[in-house]
Amino acid sequence: MATRRAFLGTALALALDAWPAAAAGTRLVLDPLRPGVYVARAANAEAMRANAGAVVPCLVHVTRAGVLVVDPGPQAAWGRALLGAIRALTRQPVRWVVNSHAHPENVLANAAFAGLRPRPRFLASAATAALMRQRCTDCLARLAALLGHAAMRGTAIVLPEPALQHGAWLQTGDTAWQVQVHAPAHSASDTVLYAPQLRLLCAGGLAYRERVPEMQEASLQGWRRALRQLIALPADTVVATATGTPAQTLVPTLAYLDALAQGIGAALAAGRDATQAADAVVAEPFRHWRHFPTRHPLNLQRAWGQLEDAWMQGGPLA
Ligand SMILES: [Zn+2]
Repeated sequence: MATRRAFLGTALALALDAWPAAAAGTRLVLDPLRPGVYVARAANAEAMRANAGAVVPCLVHVTRAGVLVVDPGPQAAWGRALLGAIRALTRQPVRWVVNSHAHPENVLANAAFAGLRPRPRFLASAATAALMRQRCTDCLARLAALLGHAAMRGTAIVLPEPALQHGAWLQTGDTAWQVQVHAPAHSASDTVLYAPQLRLLCAGGLAYRERVPEMQEASLQGWRRALRQLIALPADTVVATATGTPAQTLVPTLAYLDALAQGIGAALAAGRDATQAADAVVAEPFRHWRHFPTRHPLNLQRAWGQLEDAWMQGGPLA
């Protein structure tokens, strides 16, 4: 009943007061997307003190067999607020918590779900689970330095099982999610969940909307390959670093990465060097995107390095 009420009222959002002062003015709101499917409202921005790291639109799927949460968020306080919002929707237990990739703003809120009984299954690809084991301690320290220690209070590291395999299916009640693992792409390993019945794609860090993609650990060519495959799927809605249609998310993200690959590829072929990278890439269509002045130069550098290596080895550039 609560589920239906929340879904029918578009203006009816579930808000909690538990969200700490670190994010003063921010309340955790679950926006209904489909019957039983909700997305946490989050800043479409990079993690910073002003947004307390609340930059991941966590997906919540309420089913008769329990609740699925994909990418629970950046820290325990956010995770607890998310759990509170889920409790206001349903009495079903949280049974599955999926970590799409090993970036701290996506996974560190696992901590808020670890004490639940029955304990949910924490699931990731083998590579993501291994990376989290290897570096979550450093990631937690880095995010604490960025957001302030108060924002990260109570955030312990909870590691997922390496149980998600490319091509397998995750069954949540009546819904089957196809698992895709793209490695490397936005990160060393990016897990996508695709529900054909819902025409819904949960793409983790692989798609951006009006914001310059973060490529710190990305493989330019791997990410382009992944996006080409995702664009071919019959989906209506993509939940990633923002929510939208494929045309609003997957397509422009690929256009940006293609612009990098084509511009830099042509510059390398013409014998130019890295100092000319900015002039080589047609960036006009993306100049108004968030974080362009800071993120785009870093992406140029990374893309240039990768394509230059490929060029030296005689590999394909486009
Ligand atoms: Zn990421």
